[in-house]
Amino acid sequence: QLIFQDSDSSLNPRMKVEKIITEPLSIHRIRPVSGSLRGEAELQLKAVGMDPVYLHKYPSELSGGQRQRVAIARALSMNPEFLAADEPVASLDVSIQAQIINLFRRLQRERGFTLLFIAHDLTLVRYLCDRVGVMYRGRLIESAASEELFENPLHPYTEALFSAIPIPDPEAKMNRIVLEGSIPSPANPPEGCKFHTRCAHCMERCKHEAPVQKEVEPGHYVVCHLYDK
Ligand code: SF4
Repeated sequence: QLIFQDSDSSLNPRMKVEKIITEPLSIHRIRPVSGSLRGEAELQLKAVGMDPVYLHKYPSELSGGQRQRVAIARALSMNPEFLAADEPVASLDVSIQAQIINLFRRLQRERGFTLLFIAHDLTLVRYLCDRVGVMYRGRLIESAASEELFENPLHPYTEALFSAIPIPDPEAKMNRIVLEGSIPSPANPPEGCKFHTRCAHCMERCKHEAPVQKEVEPGHYVVCHLYDK
């Protein structure tokens, strides 16, 4: 199942919450576990922390956080094994973001699905994820267990990315790595390593030869010539 960034456009404005949550069951002709579509809608709405009174509301009558909860309830109605959430909190206020992130944690623990959480906010990623993959220009360039990756980033792009994470301490000094060079166009990507136009460690071979993925530490993968044996 999928959860999108913009709950405003991912929920049908002409449907009430009850219909939105149960429509996937009707389409796939799945018999509700609770015995009725109404019962199922109530169950899933309660699971995301909302009162069943909202079943009779339209999306336009809900706040952004409530709409995103409804989108999550709709995904849960299919009892997914795999849930992909694409920037699910990017358009929400910080306090609502925290509620939704904690909701994901609880639901993931209770229901045991795999959650693919796509985000730019690295602090949230670290808080929520067991394993993290970093992408650059459509390619996975590094992946590892969360703590390992945040403690020991290897790829030059990951290092630069992590150096930009704000530290909540006004006295702390940030050692920010500012990337130079131009961002390549996705329509016309450079030869070799796609990051070479901005990499401070770029070697001659990086301009012609695309690096392949290597396991540098157990479970820690990186795509960079610096780690060729
Ligand atoms: Fe930098 Fe070369 Fe590694 Fe690409 S392969 S990240 S250009 S060192």
